[in-house]
Amino acid sequence: MGPAPRRKTVVTDVAGVKIGSGHPIVVQSMTNTDTADVAATAAQAAALARAGSELVRVTVNNEAAARAVPQIVEALDKQGLRTPIVGDFHYNGHLLLRQFPDCARALAKYRINPGNVDIGKRRDDNFRTMIEAAIEYGKPVRIGVNWGSLDQNLLARLMDQNAARPQPRSAAEVMHEALVASALESAQAAERYGLPHDRIILSAKVSGVQDLITVYRRLAAACDYPLHLGLTEAGLGLKGIVASTAALSILLQEGIGDTIRVSLTPAPGGDRTEEVRVCQQILQSLGLRSFFPQVTACPGCGRTTSTFFQQMAQRIQEYLAAQMPVWKQTHPGVEDLKVAVMGCVVNGPGESKHSDIGISLPGTFEEPKAPVYVDGRLFTTLRGDQIVPEFIAILNDYVARRYSP
Ligand code: SF4
Repeated sequence: MGPAPRRKTVVTDVAGVKIGSGHPIVVQSMTNTDTADVAATAAQAAALARAGSELVRVTVNNEAAARAVPQIVEALDKQGLRTPIVGDFHYNGHLLLRQFPDCARALAKYRINPGNVDIGKRRDDNFRTMIEAAIEYGKPVRIGVNWGSLDQNLLARLMDQNAARPQPRSAAEVMHEALVASALESAQAAERYGLPHDRIILSAKVSGVQDLITVYRRLAAACDYPLHLGLTEAGLGLKGIVASTAALSILLQEGIGDTIRVSLTPAPGGDRTEEVRVCQQILQSLGLRSFFPQVTACPGCGRTTSTFFQQMAQRIQEYLAAQMPVWKQTHPGVEDLKVAVMGCVVNGPGESKHSDIGISLPGTFEEPKAPVYVDGRLFTTLRGDQIVPEFIAILNDYVARRYSP
């Protein structure tokens, strides 16, 4: 049993990156530099792109940022990086997109937050202006609702309607309803103003795992727009990674979600590209996409008391990561490789047989030999203090043989 078939959607083209239906689920990320700082933003966007981010979003929050956008795109282009750059607009997007046509042209997609462009007001000129810019420059938009900035007029309207019901729903249920309604009503308005149906992506982000699942199930059932998934404000470190993985995995398993972002708060001085690797690992763990060879390693226990096993697992993982930039070009398909590095023979041979190639170390006080399995069969038994380089040599031969172009 694998994931449910992907939900059928229209397909949105973001500067050549296809989002929706049968297309691979797209990994995206966002910079946290001052967009006006061209060098810093271009450097971070390049790092995110090289890590595998297929779309990179930058905030376009003022005139200096809007002026910087074409230069950032050009700087990436000079490095041979064509990753589409998406502009994140709040409050003043209607002004910036009109005042800075080069910015409007350079961006691959506009993210519009209906909670802060007056979409719920009688006169929604700001929203309409942004949609007209998208039409003029041939860009898709993401209508990105966030419960931290939910359209208050819409929420008040739904609260009033709820109060008039014979059996009013809970405040949480009305909130869910409002998030979905904000996304759908904004999309309808965008189409009314002339934006084609297949140029709209929706998201409705919340920071609670169960809330996110509820909202996206409803959104998925109510429309055929591609959906961008993400747990907003996921948080720091382990909490952010686990909460995002829990939420996204359940929805992806149900076939919901066409593009994802993991919104981690980096530690001071931390590596922004971590959010890209977490997205990739979620998709690969679910069997939805492959990005890099997977190392299966046991946790170790009292049967393997030395640190040799942990060091070996780490060395092999690092070796694979270091080879990937080259292997990706020279050995297509290598990202599907499965390697097992196991602490002892209790589960080692069995796990190795389920992998393409695997090694089991000798447990404490056991005969010092390490059986290596290749394609499910015992290939050789390594001994002595050169086990790691000898195993890596076998790994190299295997990759060269199996993934030759
Ligand atoms: S494979 Fe061996 S060392 Fe690893 S957890 Fe199992 S029993 Fe312990």
